[in-house]
Amino acid sequence: MALSKAQQAKADAYLEKFMTGLKRRNAGQPEFHQAVHEVARDVVPFLQDKQAYKDAHILDRMTEPDRVIVFRVCWTDDDNNVRVNRGTRVQFNNSIGPYKGGLRFHKSVNISILKFLGFEQVFKNSLTTLPMGGAKGGANFNPHGKSDGEVMRFCQAFMSELFRHIGPNTDIPAGDIGVGAREVSYLFGQYKRLENEFTGTITGKGLAFGGSLIRTEATGYGCVYFAREMLGTRGDEIKGKNCLVSGSGNVAQYTAEKLIQLGGKVLTLSDSGGFIYDPKGIDEEKLAWIVDLKTNKRGRVSEYVDKWGGEYHEGKRPWGVPCDLAFPCATQNELEEGDAKTLISNGCQLVSEGANMPSTIEAINIFIDNKLLFGPAKAANAGGVAVSGLEQTQNAMRLSWTREEVDKQLLDIMKNIHRTCVTYGKDGDFINYVRGANLGGFVKVADAMLAYGVL
Ligand code: NDP
Repeated sequence: MALSKAQQAKADAYLEKFMTGLKRRNAGQPEFHQAVHEVARDVVPFLQDKQAYKDAHILDRMTEPDRVIVFRVCWTDDDNNVRVNRGTRVQFNNSIGPYKGGLRFHKSVNISILKFLGFEQVFKNSLTTLPMGGAKGGANFNPHGKSDGEVMRFCQAFMSELFRHIGPNTDIPAGDIGVGAREVSYLFGQYKRLENEFTGTITGKGLAFGGSLIRTEATGYGCVYFAREMLGTRGDEIKGKNCLVSGSGNVAQYTAEKLIQLGGKVLTLSDSGGFIYDPKGIDEEKLAWIVDLKTNKRGRVSEYVDKWGGEYHEGKRPWGVPCDLAFPCATQNELEEGDAKTLISNGCQLVSEGANMPSTIEAINIFIDNKLLFGPAKAANAGGVAVSGLEQTQNAMRLSWTREEVDKQLLDIMKNIHRTCVTYGKDGDFINYVRGANLGGFVKVADAMLAYGVL
């Protein structure tokens, strides 16, 4: 709905007042402010003619987590030193299903980051159409350089407190940055021991103990499926396109794999040290080497150049390399205004976000102003949590679906999310996927909250 000038002015004034209050109540949480602002600037104008939502103060309620659990995690390192970290679980909203969202172990973890991630998760999970609420958690624990024994003791200590707050019908955590297959296994093992039951309370599990085929690949594959749908609206395809991928962890690896399978040429990957640029393209053999390096050897991407050639750019991000398509798959705020301008001036047509909130608001504005095909994280990377939802279903049914079956469901879900974004985001001949994802995710949760009355 196009607003009149007076309605728009009213919405702008309300947005400013709302954000001022939110910032005051959540002081020192810039990532959370950013995530809320990105949603509120679409939702506030949408609410202008929706009195029921306004009367129920839905937006105020949706930006306040149901609860935040903070706990001490005490463990011993290999030299028998006592170490103390802080564990947190933000249970943001369970209006449409049990809380669901990953755990992040990284030295940068703080309440602002976990609240931004939990808030985003509410919308993302709603978009998948599966019955999942939103949550996020983690700890300021840095797995880099820790032995397997240290990681195991940390995970067991973390779960020794978290277990009392989660369950198959309450809250189902999963992995995220720093929490891969190894950590999920330690966490689930401890949960199972403490509860003396075998339920699918964590997703991303190993295949031998309740994991789903395609879960490892799902976020990256889904991100590329979403990009393919976006390109399809302009009669275009991935084949033959030069692609930039950032990160070299789980999401980046499988984004690159699917791009290669669909005929794209992957030019870059990165980690927190810098990025590699291979003008010949990172093919399947080179990618398999990187997956082994990052997943098993826990090495650095800089090692690629000695083995395969190309260039390593220390301390830099890949966005200056000319490309057709860009896939930020590392971390939040890794693509800023200047990067967005560079991408556009170099001819980039599409950005599909594999990571959570990798583009700053200023960068997003540039993409939208230039009518780029821009797939925001809550839509483009929802494939991971969608297959986590499918893992829960398989666990509840005590069944394992085939690879083909799960991949087909993933593809269908990404197509549905794309369709929802088009429904809510169509603006003349341009599709504003940010607005589409925000409103599409919002309506379902808001309607459930309205139905419950004042809670
Ligand atoms: P991983 O831990 O597997 O990989 C993270 C990658 O990002 C690594 O290459 C890491 O480099 C790099 N990285 C981390 N922090 C920074 C930083 N500050 N600057 C530059 N690079 C950095 O995590 P995932 O691949 O699972 O997650 C990546 C992103 O995708 C996150 O935003 C996550 O929230 C999001 N996501 C993940 C999902 C999943 O299913 N895994 C689902 C939906 C979203 P290094 O090796 O040096 O640490």
